[in-house]
Amino acid sequence: IPPRRDLTGSDPRAVLQEVYGYDDFRGDQAAIVEQVIGGGDAVVLMPTGGGKSVTYQVPALVRPGTGLVVSPLIALMHDQVDALVANGVRAAYLNSTQSIDERRMVERLYLGGELDLLYVAPERLGNGQTLAFLQRGSLSVIAIDEAHCVSQWGHDFRPDYLALGGLADAFPDVPRMALTATATRETHREITERLRLPDAKHFVASFDRPNIQYRIDPKVDPRRQLLAFIRSFPGAAGIVYALSRKSVEQIAEYLAGQGVDALPYHAGLPPEVRAANQSRFLRDDGVVIVATIAFGMGIDKPDVRFVAHVDLPKSVEGYYQETGRAGRDGEPSVVWMAYGLGDVVQQRRMIDQSPGDRAFKTRLGRHLDAMLALCETVGCRRQNLLAYFGEESEPCGNCDTCLTPPETWDGLIPAQKLLSTIVRLQRERGQAYSAGQLIDILRGASTDRIRQLGHDTLATFGIGADLSEQDWRSVIRQLLARGLLVARGEYGTLALTDASSGVLRGETPVPLRRDVLGRGGSAVRKSS
Ligand code: ADP
Ligand code: ZN
Repeated sequence: IPPRRDLTGSDPRAVLQEVYGYDDFRGDQAAIVEQVIGGGDAVVLMPTGGGKSVTYQVPALVRPGTGLVVSPLIALMHDQVDALVANGVRAAYLNSTQSIDERRMVERLYLGGELDLLYVAPERLGNGQTLAFLQRGSLSVIAIDEAHCVSQWGHDFRPDYLALGGLADAFPDVPRMALTATATRETHREITERLRLPDAKHFVASFDRPNIQYRIDPKVDPRRQLLAFIRSFPGAAGIVYALSRKSVEQIAEYLAGQGVDALPYHAGLPPEVRAANQSRFLRDDGVVIVATIAFGMGIDKPDVRFVAHVDLPKSVEGYYQETGRAGRDGEPSVVWMAYGLGDVVQQRRMIDQSPGDRAFKTRLGRHLDAMLALCETVGCRRQNLLAYFGEESEPCGNCDTCLTPPETWDGLIPAQKLLSTIVRLQRERGQAYSAGQLIDILRGASTDRIRQLGHDTLATFGIGADLSEQDWRSVIRQLLARGLLVARGEYGTLALTDASSGVLRGETPVPLRRDVLGRGGSAVRKSS
């Protein structure tokens, strides 16, 4: 660690210029820095790319003592500390990946007052030993990053965060900050309460990212849709998110085979491969990283031009955070998602089979419902997204539904046909089926399975031949999203819900969104 000029007591703006080379603070940064340098607590809700880092780093440099940064992402501490050291900041971290010798050296530097910033993982602060050690030195500020992890109802709960409220007792005179890039009103309240920040000043920036264009398309042939999307950004860097490691690898391989400079990233890859792929993405131009959500938290690559989701994210918070990695430089960027019936069925199944208790499953179900509502909205996507975070806004003019307002059509009759087919199969034969077989019955398909099961003798056989298979999938997907139908068990067999009876009686209107492929550009036809 290089020695450098002591900045204690300096003017914060001068520190910003000298250390970071920025001309001035932006947004709420100056006010936050002032609050904390004055010794007050702060809760900071600011979207990704908003510039949270300097709001705790500058006070750490200006106030006497070491700034403690609690960050859950051990993998990133190393990079963050390296970047700080490169700017002449005396920064270090303590975590489980270090040798005893390394740890001792960092501890010595801290106790000697020779560190500006010290990063630690939350699990270390749960034990009294670490707290006692930290009390032997002197802290200037405590910053709790990714503070939404304290929320049990949030999408990223980490039990270690619950102990962080204890920092209030251990360091009553040190200003504390909680920072996050994602918080609903409920999560905001939990952060304030659980991290014990009753007197904190709250800084809530708008979560709007106006340079990001939102697009969600029905999933038809996801790989080809993805390829067409990526090809509309020649030479640009982007991130593709998929849910499983296996699909990450398959998609990366497919894209590479099509001439895209694509690399996989997931927790199951050897650490050296992961590190190499990440650094190629950061350093070279035009690399597309295909990743599970393990990738991206805290990655500071300003010129990511697009983010694609080929699987439905589990929550709106997750979607917002992942899409937020696009366009941190403020330049126009596009985020796109392919979403289909299979995603709904799969995620309901994952929730049903998850080991948690009833409350846990209810929470996951609520997250999924909000995500589905965003997918199926006929209104502005951004308005829907911001409303989820408690922010009111006007239609944005820069999302797929604003640019090409979706048509709606009356889906009551098809919905009744489908629901009555399900009822008949259940009543007359004690059977339940998943979407594929039901569509074959409705469309009057002549398959071996239809004949073997005698489904061609059902009264509803062939009554839905006026709609294509794709239309039926769209109907079923939207009914599932609205809770007018439910998918059960390992095969996603479809069943009625309490709300379905209103549809059968013709009392519940069923306006449906007409699916259009590739709105705003890449039209794709199904190949098989
Ligand atoms: P967050 O942690 O909120 O996602 P960062 O702290 O990583 O955001 O900052 C996002 C980007 O904005 C970074 O590239 C950073 O260098 C830049 N940045 C932050 N504050 C300023 C500023 N006052 N002037 C210019 N650039 C800034
Ligand atoms: Zn819009």
